[in-house]
Amino acid sequence: MSNGPAALSPTPEQDEFNPFLSMAQLFNRAADILDLDEGLREVLRRPDRELTVALPVIMDDGSTKVFTGYRVQHNFLRGPCKGGIRFAPDVNLDEVRALSAWMTWKCSVVDVPFGGGKGGVICDPRDLSTRELESITRRYTAAIMDILGPNRDVPAPDVNTNEQTMAWIMDTYSMHVRSTTTAVVTGKPISIGGSRGRREATGRGVMLCCREAMKKLGRRPENTRVVVQGSGNVGGIGALLLYREGYKITSLSDMYGAIHNEQGLDVPEVLEYLRVNRRLEGYDGADHIKNAEQLFLDCEVLIPAATENQITSKNALRIKARLIVEGANGPTTAAAQDILDTMGVVVVPDILANAGGVTVSYFEWVQDRMGYFWTEDVVNTRLEQIMVKAFDDVNETAKKYGETMRTASYILAIERVATVYRMRGIFS
Ligand code: GLU
Repeated sequence: MSNGPAALSPTPEQDEFNPFLSMAQLFNRAADILDLDEGLREVLRRPDRELTVALPVIMDDGSTKVFTGYRVQHNFLRGPCKGGIRFAPDVNLDEVRALSAWMTWKCSVVDVPFGGGKGGVICDPRDLSTRELESITRRYTAAIMDILGPNRDVPAPDVNTNEQTMAWIMDTYSMHVRSTTTAVVTGKPISIGGSRGRREATGRGVMLCCREAMKKLGRRPENTRVVVQGSGNVGGIGALLLYREGYKITSLSDMYGAIHNEQGLDVPEVLEYLRVNRRLEGYDGADHIKNAEQLFLDCEVLIPAATENQITSKNALRIKARLIVEGANGPTTAAAQDILDTMGVVVVPDILANAGGVTVSYFEWVQDRMGYFWTEDVVNTRLEQIMVKAFDDVNETAKKYGETMRTASYILAIERVATVYRMRGIFS
């Protein structure tokens, strides 16, 4: 059977590190439990639309370089496609496919009215000037313009993109449609239609999931050691909010290395150091260790908040944490999840744990369409309501089916999307 790369059904021998195959494996497991019919499986496994674009950009030295960009729309049954755009050297189509599918399941788990999409441009922002980044962003936006729009597909920040990137996208789109269209993108600066609380939202969602899981495990924050892989928008803010709740954050990391202090880090001080110096290197309030060692530190809670494929079949047995809360998308491979299950490690999966970002993106989109903006308290209260409900829904599903929270989150998400398919019918 050959239905093209997006229709692959993985076997265990296939590449563990291909995120699309990993996603498909998790999807298949939940679909089997739901006894989903083959046709619907095929529909839900395959992205609806994939766009690859060439982006010519004039560089600062006067030369012309052509970058490659992608936008994949996995599914728009429950609403417009929603999902971030990442700029990174290792962006590839299978990764963007997996990330777009994860957005479909994520939006469904928190029950916000969006489908899933994701985009990326192959580039290394560390080698680019601000002007070059602006040109890439504007050219990319123009290239995918036909499939964007507040009712079609609404991007947001992801790895190496930020509020400024979103402002350029909003401006480029608005100039093309001759009308300021704030709701075309979320994660914007507050001054141009962004939402209060959006910047902190993913980290806040991670903190809330950690809190709920700890309650379930009958543990208290005091003396709970937390290792956070990352220190950016998700890891850094997640660590800060957990620190304020009384957890002991013993390790943080960036691309270049990790810091460790068994007595607990002064997280506000570390983040201030990072803001000024842009890397953790040289921070003198902790020991410096290699990234490769960080995941295996003795701790109670591990928060992978960097990128995919960090916890794998090769290293899962060395994890000491009893609770993992996934701030990143796809940090644990499907094979590693099986090992963690046998070790009795509780994993709050990515499509639940990092859904705080897209939840406040939903609030931003609603506020932009209303032209009426909420206070930070209103945003945070509504975010907490949604995250706690989603956590409880996944937990109940896990109990009902006798499954892990990971499989339960897929069961819940797929069932909600499948219900919409059954109601709407298949247009043909
Ligand atoms: N990139 C974020 C994620 O993976 C946010 C997506 C959004 O807000 O649309 O969840």
